[in-house]
Amino acid sequence: MHPIKLQIIANNENAALCGPCGGRCCKSVPGYTFPSDFGPTVEEMERQIIAALRTGKFCVDDDDEEGSNFIRPALIHEEGMIWGHMTKYGGACSLLTASGCSLSFDKRPTMCRALKPGICAQQGINNQDAIDAWRPYQDVISRAAEMVESCT
Ligand code: SF4
Ligand code: SF4
Repeated sequence: MHPIKLQIIANNENAALCGPCGGRCCKSVPGYTFPSDFGPTVEEMERQIIAALRTGKFCVDDDDEEGSNFIRPALIHEEGMIWGHMTKYGGACSLLTASGCSLSFDKRPTMCRALKPGICAQQGINNQDAIDAWRPYQDVISRAAEMVESCT
């Protein structure tokens, strides 16, 4: 199994910019997670993916061209769904509240943390990097999704 590569990104929250904006980025599409967002080991990753899917606020999506699964926050109209296939159409993230993201900075998906306010684009990594990072863990995603499906 490939080692889980950690993505360390310093807190870049900017209330002065993002408060008045109201989360235009989060209303257009949720940020993708990386495997390291769910823990430093495969066992912990699987446990945390199961817990995230059970909240109804995260789902499994797939990359149409590669057929590779990854985890992202659910869109508002996907809440409670395990499988989402709507990223390319976009929509508001279910974790966005009137006062901003409901997750603390360090708990947000890597692609959310990599988004630099002001520039309002990710710095140094992109969605394809997230999909590539998940590729070695397809079996972990499948097991987690099956576990949640079997208990609903
Ligand atoms: S990062 Fe940019 S688009 Fe997103 S809430 Fe802040 S100012 Fe708005
Ligand atoms: S998880 Fe938080 S920061 Fe990321 S898209 Fe959703 S509301 Fe925005």
